[in-house]
Amino acid sequence: MTSPNPNTAPEKNDFIRQIIRDDLASGKHSRIRTRFPPEPNGYLHIGHAKSICLNFGIGREFDGLVNLRFDDTNPSKEDLEFVASIQDDVRWLGFEWNELRHASDYFEVFYRSALKLIDDGKAYVCDLDADQVREYRGTLTQPGRNSPFRERTVAENRDLFERMRAGEFADGSRTLRAKIDMASGNINMRDPALYRIRKIPHQNTGDAWPIYPMYDYAHCISDALEGITHSLCTLEFEDHRPLYDWCIDNIDLPNHPQLWQPLVDAGFDTPVAKPRQIEFSRLNINYTVMSKRKLLALVSEGLVSGWDDPRMPTLSGLRRRGTPPAALRLFADRIGISKQNSVIDFSVLENCVRETLDESAERRMAVVQPIKLVITNLPAHHIEMLSMANHPKNDDCGRREVPFSNELWIDAEDFMETPTPGYHRLTRGADVRLRGVGIVTCDEVLSTDGTVSELRCRLDLESRPGMEGSKRKVKGTIHWVCAKHAVAAEFRLFDRLFTVENPDSDEGGSYRDYLNPESAQRTMGFVEPAAASAVPEQSFQFERQGYFVADRYDHRSDKPVFNRSVTLRDTWAAK
Ligand code: ATP
Ligand code: MG
Repeated sequence: MTSPNPNTAPEKNDFIRQIIRDDLASGKHSRIRTRFPPEPNGYLHIGHAKSICLNFGIGREFDGLVNLRFDDTNPSKEDLEFVASIQDDVRWLGFEWNELRHASDYFEVFYRSALKLIDDGKAYVCDLDADQVREYRGTLTQPGRNSPFRERTVAENRDLFERMRAGEFADGSRTLRAKIDMASGNINMRDPALYRIRKIPHQNTGDAWPIYPMYDYAHCISDALEGITHSLCTLEFEDHRPLYDWCIDNIDLPNHPQLWQPLVDAGFDTPVAKPRQIEFSRLNINYTVMSKRKLLALVSEGLVSGWDDPRMPTLSGLRRRGTPPAALRLFADRIGISKQNSVIDFSVLENCVRETLDESAERRMAVVQPIKLVITNLPAHHIEMLSMANHPKNDDCGRREVPFSNELWIDAEDFMETPTPGYHRLTRGADVRLRGVGIVTCDEVLSTDGTVSELRCRLDLESRPGMEGSKRKVKGTIHWVCAKHAVAAEFRLFDRLFTVENPDSDEGGSYRDYLNPESAQRTMGFVEPAAASAVPEQSFQFERQGYFVADRYDHRSDKPVFNRSVTLRDTWAAK
């Protein structure tokens, strides 16, 4: 794997890493642990990549441990397909977890911890329904009111909660709530629900549980059980931190080993400790949508071809598009970590893709919109092999043989019958250099039904590489593919999925209205044999065309399919 070596890469210096350095220096922790905690209710997107690069990056830089934890406390929306794809995506990004955990592994601990809160007089069973809870909760400016069930005795609460767990009550009829402060300025502290009744089978625990813990309750306990030292999450959880700390302090797992004994019995490593939650800003990018709900809608409404549509901001979409994982890690480094919410320009991502591929991708020649060029002063059977460098800046990439003959394909864009001013490519009577071959002059243009069908050109035999005449200056150089050896290929030309910067703005209209109709185009053209023989997911720079990747699923050497990952230059800014 080509991850930056932490010993030579410049030290990253954001506020979270600074906290960690301080904690290690002061001896508060001897080894740090982080976790990436996705809910398996969709595919990971580039926003998750920011969190993955942060959590796993910190693990690597500070010799810490990192868990992948499925936050699977919400059975109705979760799916095993997502569980598998998330693991694939994290590995593809270049990271490996120390332990794979599921919040559902801890259901028994959550339950025992809730009983402890009840016994301590810190939680109660409430019979208010959802509307009533909302009404009692108050508003930002008005305190809430105590639930009429708040003063139930410990014995009554215990009995009711055990019966909730036994499945005696209907969905939504009761909740278990923390007994904190209905007048708190922080609405999250107004007796938040800890458990609800939900008689739905769970992907991991089946029918074992008719009650499920709420996110805020389950997350902090999970962190504590895994010995997570720094629980990194996005800014919207800042207001939830007091509740996180309340649960940690009031359950006090380190001093109550009987609460997590079931995990020890089941053979889990339980380095139980007190975690600290730290928030950072989410990644937002323009010209795309990022919430899983909206991505799911694009997929289920057939507006894209699937989660891995190459235009999707999902990791599987970016992968299919040919985005190298190293480009996403570079992107994460470049945008950095802060508490400032901002929207990153799509071109920042594209530039990371260009920079990464410029370094790593071998060069090939491909013709996306072919027209025939015949060299009239070479014999009809002429064939030779030209040796070309695979990379202009990296000799380690070696060289390849590129077949050349008197019949070539060139790109339609590289010829203009009536050239516009400043056009330096091929026109009737003008000279242009064929890459690696020499200078040709176009003598004759053949047309069929008004469209150009063949360009008949003369090759200046004195201009071949190594000859004196090769130094002759011409303004344009164009690429080509030998027509006798070319392999017909499909090119899928992708662009941004939306035409506006903020398709996500919920003001008027829907992001569906801003889909870019030109974001997925297909053309048939030709590639040189050394491109056709690519393995799926191999990236190339097709000279003068852009960076392309052999499609992960559809590419075959005898039927090549290439996806355009990114153009050579930012053409969007000019539009
Ligand atoms: P979404 O809102 O897209 O559904 P989510 O936050 O609900 O995403 P989770 O599966 O809960 O998705 O996210 C797992 C982790 O990834 C969380 O720690 C979350 O904070 C982080 N994460 C999700 N989206 C982003 C983002 N845009 N930028 C940075 N981190 C993110
Ligand atoms: Mg979430």
